[in-house]
Amino acid sequence: MIPLHIIHEHLNKYKGTDIKIGTICSHSALQIFAGAREEGLRTVGITTRDRIDTYKAFPHACPDEFIIVDNYKDVLKADMQNKLLLKNVILVPHGSFVEYLGAKNIEEMLYVPMIGNRAVLEWESDRKMERKWLSDKAGLLMPKVFNNPKDINCLSIVKFDGAKGGSGYFKVMNSKQFYDEAKKRGATIERMTIQEYVVGVRYYLHYFYSQIGDTGYKCKKGYLELTGIDRRDESNIDELHRLGMTRDEMAKAGINATYTVTGNTGCVIRESLLPQVLEIGRKTVDASMDLFSPGMIGPFCLEAVVTANLEIKVFEVSARIVAGTNVYPKESPYTYLSYGKPMSCGRRIALEVRGAMKKGKLHEIVG
Ligand code: AMP
Repeated sequence: MIPLHIIHEHLNKYKGTDIKIGTICSHSALQIFAGAREEGLRTVGITTRDRIDTYKAFPHACPDEFIIVDNYKDVLKADMQNKLLLKNVILVPHGSFVEYLGAKNIEEMLYVPMIGNRAVLEWESDRKMERKWLSDKAGLLMPKVFNNPKDINCLSIVKFDGAKGGSGYFKVMNSKQFYDEAKKRGATIERMTIQEYVVGVRYYLHYFYSQIGDTGYKCKKGYLELTGIDRRDESNIDELHRLGMTRDEMAKAGINATYTVTGNTGCVIRESLLPQVLEIGRKTVDASMDLFSPGMIGPFCLEAVVTANLEIKVFEVSARIVAGTNVYPKESPYTYLSYGKPMSCGRRIALEVRGAMKKGKLHEIVG
C-alpha cells in the first residue's frame, strides 16, 4: 500500500484554493461534476475519446476540462499521475473507477490524493473480511453463509467472487441442487459463496460519514448522514414474473435468473425503520475505525433486505459513492430534510472538500 505520508506530501503541495475534483467519466461522474460546480470547485474528467460527447450533452455536469486516455489503466502511469498532481486534483473513486483501475493497483500504485481511506478496498472486496467487519465487529444482521454445501438448509443464493453485476449467480434449495447447478456451470466451489437468500424487499441505503462535520447522527467520532435510498433494477430477475412461467417452465426454456443492474429507482423507507437504518450505519462506521483506522470516510452504501418482520439484513457494503445516488442529482428526500436546500451525494463530497480546506483538514479526508 502506498504510505499515507507520501499522499499527504503531494497534498501539501496543492495550492489551497485551486483544488479540482477529478474522476473517470463513468458511473456517477455527471453527478460528481455537477455537485462540484455547485460548490464552486473546478473539475477534471478523465475519459476515452468516445465518451466526450455524452458528457458535453449535459452542460451543467460537463467537466471543466477533459484528460483523454486510450485506456483507463493509463491513469496509473506516472506521467498521468504527475499531470493530475500539477492540476491539484483530488480524485473521487466510484464503482467503475475501482473496476477499471483495479483495487490492488489503486492501493499499491495510485499516489494522487483520493477521497476516502484506500484501506477500505480490501475490506469490501473480500467477502470474508467484509463479514468480519459487518457481522463480527459491527454486529449487523447478515444472511447465513454455508461454508459446506452439505449444510444448505434453506433457499440460498450462490455468488461467484468478482462476478460482474451478479452474473452467473444461481439459487438452490439443498446440496443436491447445488452440486447439479455447479457442475452444469463447470464452477469450482472455492470461488463461490453460498448465502441464505433473504426473502423481503431490497433497499440500498446511502450514507455519508464525516469525521470533520458537526451535524447528523453521532458516531464514535464525527457524524453520519442518510443521503438517500434506491432500489436497483436488475435484469432479468425483476421482470421474470411478467413471463407468468413456473421455475420448471423457465428451466425448460433455458431461462436463468440474472442480476445485472440496468438502472435504479428512488424510494423511501417507512419512518419507523429510520432508527435501525441510522444505527446500522453508525455501527458500520464505528467498527471501521477499529479495524482500519481512520476507517470509512465519505459516502458508502449498505445493500440490504428488509424482511416481513422488519429486520434489516445486510448482504453487501459498497465503500464509496454508489450509482443509485444518481437518482438524486439535485436532492433526495433525506438530504432535503438534512440541508433544507439542494444537496446531491456528489455535491456533499464537494462540500466536504470545501469544508476540509477551510478547516485545514484536507489530509483527514483523503487517503
Ligand atoms: P451482490 O453481487 O451481492 O450485490 O448481489 C447482486 C444482487 O443479488 C443483489 O442486488 C440482490 O438483488 C441479490 N442478492 C444478493 N444477495 C442476496 C441475498 N442474500 N438475499 C436476497 N437477494 C440477494
